[in-house]
Amino acid sequence: MLLRSRNCCALFFAFLVFALALSAQQKQPEPPATPILGFSPPRAAAERQLESAFQSLPSPEKAREWHRTLTAEPHPAASARNNYLADFIADAWRKQGWEDITLRRYDVLHSRPRSISVEMTAPVRFTASLREDAYDIDPDTKNPAVSGAYFGYSASGDVTAEVVYAHSGNPEDYDLLKKNGISVRGKIVLVRYSNPYSYRGFKALTAEQQGVAALLIYSDPADDGYTHGKVFPDGPWGPESHIQRGSITYDYIVPGDPTTPGWASVPGAKHIAPEESRSLPKIVALPLSWRDAKPLLENMTGPEAPKDWQGAMPIKYRFTGAVQARVKVDMDTSMQPYTVVEARLRGSELPDEWVLLGNHRDAWVFGGVDPSSGTASMMELTRSLGELKRRGLRPRRTIVVCSWDGEEYALTGSTEWGEQFADDLKKKLVAYLNVDESVAGAATTAGPEGLSFSPAAVASLAPMLVEASKDVRAPSGKSLYEAWRATSMRDSQASTPPLDSALVETRIGSGSDHTVFLNHLGRPVINLGFTGDYGVYHSMYDDHYWMAHIGDPAFEYHVALTRMWGLVALRLANADILPFDFGFNAAALEQFLRALEQTNNLEPRRLKLKRLHARIAEFEKEGNLLRSTVARGLLSGSASPENIQRLNEQLLQVESNWLDPTGIPGRPWFQHLLYSSRFTYAHLEFPGLTEAVEKQDWKLAKRQAALLETAVGKNTKLLRSALSTWEKNRPR
Ligand SMILES: [Zn+2]
Repeated sequence: MLLRSRNCCALFFAFLVFALALSAQQKQPEPPATPILGFSPPRAAAERQLESAFQSLPSPEKAREWHRTLTAEPHPAASARNNYLADFIADAWRKQGWEDITLRRYDVLHSRPRSISVEMTAPVRFTASLREDAYDIDPDTKNPAVSGAYFGYSASGDVTAEVVYAHSGNPEDYDLLKKNGISVRGKIVLVRYSNPYSYRGFKALTAEQQGVAALLIYSDPADDGYTHGKVFPDGPWGPESHIQRGSITYDYIVPGDPTTPGWASVPGAKHIAPEESRSLPKIVALPLSWRDAKPLLENMTGPEAPKDWQGAMPIKYRFTGAVQARVKVDMDTSMQPYTVVEARLRGSELPDEWVLLGNHRDAWVFGGVDPSSGTASMMELTRSLGELKRRGLRPRRTIVVCSWDGEEYALTGSTEWGEQFADDLKKKLVAYLNVDESVAGAATTAGPEGLSFSPAAVASLAPMLVEASKDVRAPSGKSLYEAWRATSMRDSQASTPPLDSALVETRIGSGSDHTVFLNHLGRPVINLGFTGDYGVYHSMYDDHYWMAHIGDPAFEYHVALTRMWGLVALRLANADILPFDFGFNAAALEQFLRALEQTNNLEPRRLKLKRLHARIAEFEKEGNLLRSTVARGLLSGSASPENIQRLNEQLLQVESNWLDPTGIPGRPWFQHLLYSSRFTYAHLEFPGLTEAVEKQDWKLAKRQAALLETAVGKNTKLLRSALSTWEKNRPR
């Protein structure tokens, strides 16, 4: 305690000296750094004290206890256990001192299995187990409540047909089959999960478009099994019977309840018929373990598949031949209630500006990594922030926290909640900080540098994220910033550490709860988490044993994530001026545009992008100028509260200006002009423009480029006006 407060004083004095030295040099044109981005010196000093108190609160032992409770039973969406956990979390938040605790109910179209079977009928009979093996060392694996294999939103059906192997089930794989004279129409198609990875819902849509009757997706050991190292329960990788469950909804077209596209499924809301939904698959589909897939593959007699189609099982992978199977799927697709738990710490000074934290609660089985590692980190975060509030240390802005439901189905809880409160969120939401999996990797196999810290953020918030990481300690003992640089260097096999500007991933895809806030509501988002070796995703083995013996036995990564999440939240909640960096944002846009031109070999005679480049350059100039002017104003203490308030309003407006209310072509729900995701969930920048260029629809591309020019120009003007208001009102 003593040491910490002494450190804190030392820091305070060091920075006072620094601030004084800087104010003596006011005439120098070089912009000085502020003590913390967006903070005036006195407020930064208070913030440092608060942060040091905050960082001492999260406890690995408590994170372990939360984790054990959360993962004690399977808790998929709409299950009694997941609903119990909603009450459990609400109760905990009440005890921790959070306010306005509310359970929001949404009635949504849910999907769960009634009966499932897969049989090979020729050339030999074989019945797939569709179950995972239990291990004595991990009693949870014997829990009778564990489900078998199924996919959320699979169609029901009974298909008997020939089996064809289609590699990863991506469009180019079907092209190759066609070239080899193999038709998949009416057949059962077997594909592997990865190589290259694509979201299973994209494989389902692709198969549906190809006329496939039933789709089986299996986990090849080359993807997440023994090829990579030791398998569960001895290591982090998937054993022979592990099954990757999941949803196959087409939520990249429109997420959330498939029967309320674009509006909230509050009780009494209008619902469309399931047949009218654009996000519901019409194909029968199932996941398989490699043990269940092997007999189907090794009994084929047709032509051998090419080298890159060969997986890691000791067999020859063939296109097809001689294998007949029967796939029977009977799904209960019916309306069920989902529950989002919401709580807040009301801001002491700016209650109508919100910093939102969120994590989903529902898991395919126990959710050791996905999502209960995130939930355990969140519960330690809310406990710590509640403790600060008890000591009278309330955030200046309101901090809202949500436990989402049904993320695994179609990002459903967050989407419905976002749609319900769209008007408020568009006005009040400063940023959404999402944590899905806080620890998706094995510390025990990570080597001396440890797990990789792998956050993603909109570019305007990347610099503040890097800055915050310098003040958090990683489990390796280094600062999180140093650990992050070291693991980035290791993971990219580079010989020098990356530049700060390259640390944060600023390209953001879909597949988690940030989607509605970014893509539909135009609010800035950050995703945080550690990653590493992890081969039991969405299987029964993603459980407490995996985490406590292989993933994060000391629960120190859970707590490091809590600290980083909390620090970012506190800085956004307490800053004088919101720490958006639009100069950096513009530089990222320029990178996105160059990448688009290079990947598509874009020639100016096809599409002129010179004006868009010029607009981005102007935006960059204004962003940099505003950042340095504001930093100087903050340091000199010359900004009035009204001046600061006016500026913050304008900064929040910049992010909203990236929205186009008509949406991107073909996907009106996705309204962000800079960010969307591909159907594979992969990131997609300048979505409307990029997709038009890829289709070589030059007329559409021109229109999309013009939309971007207008939006960038509008924001440049906004920054210019923000700067002139700031300068005008500044007392000299
Ligand atoms: Zn998840």
